[in-house]
Amino acid sequence: MPLVWVIVHFIAAGLLAALVNHLGLRAWRRAEAAHWTERARLLWPVRYTAGINLFMLPGFLVALHVSWDLQPTPELIAEGVAGLLGSLLGCYPMEREIFPGYNFAGWSRQVVAGGGLRFGGLLAFFAALIFMPARVGWGVALVAAGYLIFHGLIQWGLFRQLLRLARMLKPAGPRLQEIVADGAARMGVRVRSTWELGGMTANALALPVTRELIFTERLLAICNDEEVAAICTHELAHLTESKAVLAGRLLRSFSFFPLIFVNPAVQYWGLPGLLVLYAAMLLILAATRRLPQAMEKRADAAAVREQTNEGVYARALEKLYQANQTPAVSGRNKHAAHPHLYDRMTAAGVTPDYPRPARPRKLTGAGWALVFGWAALLVASWALAIVFALRGANPDGP
Ligand SMILES: [Zn+2]
Repeated sequence: MPLVWVIVHFIAAGLLAALVNHLGLRAWRRAEAAHWTERARLLWPVRYTAGINLFMLPGFLVALHVSWDLQPTPELIAEGVAGLLGSLLGCYPMEREIFPGYNFAGWSRQVVAGGGLRFGGLLAFFAALIFMPARVGWGVALVAAGYLIFHGLIQWGLFRQLLRLARMLKPAGPRLQEIVADGAARMGVRVRSTWELGGMTANALALPVTRELIFTERLLAICNDEEVAAICTHELAHLTESKAVLAGRLLRSFSFFPLIFVNPAVQYWGLPGLLVLYAAMLLILAATRRLPQAMEKRADAAAVREQTNEGVYARALEKLYQANQTPAVSGRNKHAAHPHLYDRMTAAGVTPDYPRPARPRKLTGAGWALVFGWAALLVASWALAIVFALRGANPDGP
């Protein structure tokens, strides 16, 4: 009864995610009176845990199911996807608690639009990974070509087009139009189109390949014209990046490409094949590692240079981070695209009126429990596999 199991995975992942998030928020709830940076610091591990839970929980449940049945079936993919959707849905109560103004329609739109813009490429990756045949032939070439075409289309605006069709993006209103036109004229930048995106996140985004800008409605609501203009300069600076930088960005976006060949590589070369693919991915990532942050610093410098009054850009940045409850010093590694807010403000000539916050923790207690649960399951399944191998309990084997 595969459908029943799909539903079981969906509900189990949803409940587990909601529980882990609920427990994780305890410290953040208690710190209601603390400075916003401290609250954001406490929120960071909860969100980080929720992010990896999107994949860890479904994987955990599928692995549990496999070790229960000892019989992997094609339905496992459906169960994994159901678990992913369930754990995504399990994040809604947490988002409601963090942003009390949220409703379900608004949240789901933001998940589809914001998540899709950033992670749309992952869909194509997983599809290619799953459909890639193990035996080399036309199938391999077909899946690889399909992946490259789809990934290329996403980079060249396919997803943005879909959002527009779904009415999730709307053309910039007169206020934003004017600010962008002013900035573009001053900096001599050509912008193809500017869009507004709903949701609770205060953010702006430049799509350098298609020369488009996206501003969220929340950003436009909390920032005055001068601040929107300062953020706009940062985004416009991304559109002035060289062709070489654009090529580097595209190359980096293709870093998962080698991994779609996992099936044939393992079929022909076993574990070493897997390592070669992994090394190829690491090579692409290492070659382009410094690029995103260098470009963010360059865009920040442009925004500071062009700002109309001293300190405007730093203040605008702080508003966005505070609205999104993103910590002033985050838990990301040092090559993350954006430097910490604290350092961005300092570089913009403004020393924040609070001391540099400590780094947040990586995971919540419940998050660590899940990671250890995963490890235990892995060790147990290996131990089981070894026992079976020793007993020669494989009647179909050679
Ligand atoms: Zn940027």
